[in-house]
Amino acid sequence: MSAETTTERPTYVLARAEVRAVARVSPNFVRVTFGGDELFEFGTPGDVFDSRIKIVFPPASGILPDLDRETDNWWASYLAVPEDERGSMRTYSVRELRVTDAGTELDVDFVLHLAPGLSGPASRWADAAAVGQELFIVGPRRGIPASAHGGAEFEPGTAASVVLAGDETAAPAIARILEDAPRDLRGCAFIEVPSADDVLPIAAPAGVEVRWLPRTGEQAHGLQLIPAVLEYLGDADAGDDVDVTDIESEDLLWETPDYSGLGEDIAVANAPPERYFWIAGESGVVTTLRRHLVKDLGIDRGQVAFMGYWRRGVAMRG
Ligand SMILES: Cc1cc2nc3c(=O)[nH]c(=O)nc-3n(C[C@H](O)[C@H](O)[C@H](O)COP(=O)(O)OP(=O)(O)OC[C@H]3O[C@@H](n4cnc5c(N)ncnc54)[C@H](O)[C@@H]3O)c2cc1C
Repeated sequence: MSAETTTERPTYVLARAEVRAVARVSPNFVRVTFGGDELFEFGTPGDVFDSRIKIVFPPASGILPDLDRETDNWWASYLAVPEDERGSMRTYSVRELRVTDAGTELDVDFVLHLAPGLSGPASRWADAAAVGQELFIVGPRRGIPASAHGGAEFEPGTAASVVLAGDETAAPAIARILEDAPRDLRGCAFIEVPSADDVLPIAAPAGVEVRWLPRTGEQAHGLQLIPAVLEYLGDADAGDDVDVTDIESEDLLWETPDYSGLGEDIAVANAPPERYFWIAGESGVVTTLRRHLVKDLGIDRGQVAFMGYWRRGVAMRG
């Protein structure tokens, strides 16, 4: 999200939101429902798809920082707060958005990654979340066109079929995409999760097969997802040893049909693609899939959104 735009009506809502409900929906997911008067203007202009939000978790004091809520300078005002008072900002997806006369509520599905050395403030907050707690949510303001806030990536255009692939952090976005998609959408969704008990219901279109891929034991991220996607796409070597590599950059991989985080030229497709790919999850896993799809299978990168949602061993900064 860019914080640059300044309009009379800010593009984003920075809302103080209150926890309304907490549900352990599976061993590794906790669903938190947020509500409150300040969420009133929050909302995507149409369907939610993979809309992302920023969440500011309070610092150790429990006191949320004083941020600029009147303009689109929320990012600069967040950075201006001394580090030990600003808390932590992380990115999440909207699993469910309910806008009624009684107000706006949204659900977020948090992955609980709590192992020592592999956890962070967001996951720890979610593990202890309780009704009545407060935090800030930054997201699109209702009525502002999607082109102004750019907080969603799913754009299949006229493609007749889709391939969606991701790990547990992308599961909420994939679920939302499939529930908002036209009912005649066709394709396949691959979702790698920590265990078989983390398989959650998704009301997908009948023509989209949803393949859940539980990891076994301490298996590393990607070792289920990568071979399954490649095999589906007809890569004869898909069963070989999977070598997960990442780009040598501080940033997460973020390559979409109209944006290149690597600074590559954006290809202009001559004809609308038949098939659209949406791939998100651990950055090294997504990078590895990108290499296979683009280099080995010759898939036009203009047909694919490749998005690193987190990175092994790296704490996110917002
Ligand atoms: C557009 C977008 C949408 C996202 N949607 C969701 C969502 O709906 N639900 C969700 O749970 N996450 C989602 N994420 C991922 C989430 O932002 C990251 O997992 C984030 O790092 C969690 O913050 P943290 O404070 O818990 O850990 P951090 O402080 O960022 O990281 C601390 C340590 O935890 C490790 N780590 C981070 N995430 C994981 C993980 N999932 N499994 C194992 N180790 C991990 C890091 O490698 C690091 O070593 C999304 C990310 C993006 C960019």
